[in-house]
Amino acid sequence: MATTVMAGAVEGVDGVEVQVEVDLVRRLPRVTVVGLPASAVKESTERVRSAILASGLDFPKQRVTINLAPADVKKDGTAFDLAGVMAVGELSLSGALRDVPGALPLALLARQRGVRALILPEDCAGQGAVVPGLNVLSATNLAEVVDWLNGKDTLKKASFVSEPRPVHHGDLADVRGQALARRGLEIAAAGGHNLLLIGAPGSGKTMLASRLGGLLPPMTFEEAIETTRVHSVAGLLPERVGILEQRPFRNPHHSISPAGLLGGASLRPGELSLAHHGVLFLDELPEFSRGTLEQLRSPLERREVVIARSAGAVTLPAACMLVAAANPCACGFLGHPHKPCRCGEAALRRYRQRLSGPLLDRIDLCVRIDPVHSEELFCDRRRESSAEVRERVVAARRAQTERYKSLPIFNNAMLDGPACREAANTTPAGMRLLRDSMEHLSLSARACDRVLKVARTIADLDGVGRVDLEHVAEAVAFRAQDSVEAQGGL
Ligand SMILES: [Zn+2]
Repeated sequence: MATTVMAGAVEGVDGVEVQVEVDLVRRLPRVTVVGLPASAVKESTERVRSAILASGLDFPKQRVTINLAPADVKKDGTAFDLAGVMAVGELSLSGALRDVPGALPLALLARQRGVRALILPEDCAGQGAVVPGLNVLSATNLAEVVDWLNGKDTLKKASFVSEPRPVHHGDLADVRGQALARRGLEIAAAGGHNLLLIGAPGSGKTMLASRLGGLLPPMTFEEAIETTRVHSVAGLLPERVGILEQRPFRNPHHSISPAGLLGGASLRPGELSLAHHGVLFLDELPEFSRGTLEQLRSPLERREVVIARSAGAVTLPAACMLVAAANPCACGFLGHPHKPCRCGEAALRRYRQRLSGPLLDRIDLCVRIDPVHSEELFCDRRRESSAEVRERVVAARRAQTERYKSLPIFNNAMLDGPACREAANTTPAGMRLLRDSMEHLSLSARACDRVLKVARTIADLDGVGRVDLEHVAEAVAFRAQDSVEAQGGL
């Protein structure tokens, strides 16, 4: 007689139902796994046997055939002996249940399938408990699960804890001086713009970039679920944490491989996807390999990564803001008020080329960060907090949501071409300045659109419907392209 139970696998960030059909026949004892078993599954038969024996249960002295069937392939509706229960977990030799990656996507699948109960290992049960309307039970070992199936009250209802506040967040209130950088961060947050920070070593680029998360609107529940899914699949959620509530801030080292950044054949999400709904920070941008950055271009624009593999492509989400940081030149001190730059003409040119590499045209705003003056360091004037800035950002984002409600975009950074010019609805004075800037700075049409996008965000921060002279002027000052290309660096 065959018994079928429901389990699940993870593909990309989605749960996929797998039916485990077990058949016992009175023949010589042997265990065979058929269906679509990966080698890890095949090798698990000895582990499962050991776990069953260690739990004080009998292992059948018969021929055991285990058939793994993806639900979309096999839908013949074999009766469920464990009707409507889904169980997921890795068995140790002793019968203890270990954490599995992707508990959240599997819980979402369980809810979609309307299961009566989802049984998860204790350490990741919290991820399932986040899903509203799903009965999630937490188990520590196999014997408990078997007792529960036999009608005993051995499993606890799962609950979750919130993520501890990450240390990197910090507050703008602790930042002294840096008026221009604060403004740049606010505009970037308000419009979802990618940002480049340029400054000498130790000028505070990382410190400023890490504060961007605190300026962005709080994540909606849907966004939090989407972000948590990615981290769940990557096995990166802290123990017992149910849901990520802070926008992620990912800070990969420049030696990272393309697979590490974008995700690889093993389908582990890359840093770009781990930054979904948050910030991807590339410190020392010119040190990243050109090839790696090239591969980032299209996923950044499309807000998703497509990973090709033999069994078909998998798409991972990747809607994040890019913040890059760089020194102004190879020695780091070009334009520094007190320290001389030691780079020669040729070194400056080479550095400029590396900096204006593959990603510069994906960046809307550039901020030059100067060392803080000593009078600013000791001035105890009250500084605005991240929460105060965030209120303006939220209001500006609300205006964008309203304006783009009939379009497939939700912020100014996503505007392009004609949509950009329409949304800007620039006044005649603003238009004149834009045209003059185009001429004097020889801006391309694309560069001009980028100026307009940023000007649109500045006008949204001002709460006005039309882009005017002052908005264009400020946007021009924040341009990335010629900040790098003009003035020999910056
Ligand atoms: Zn230099």
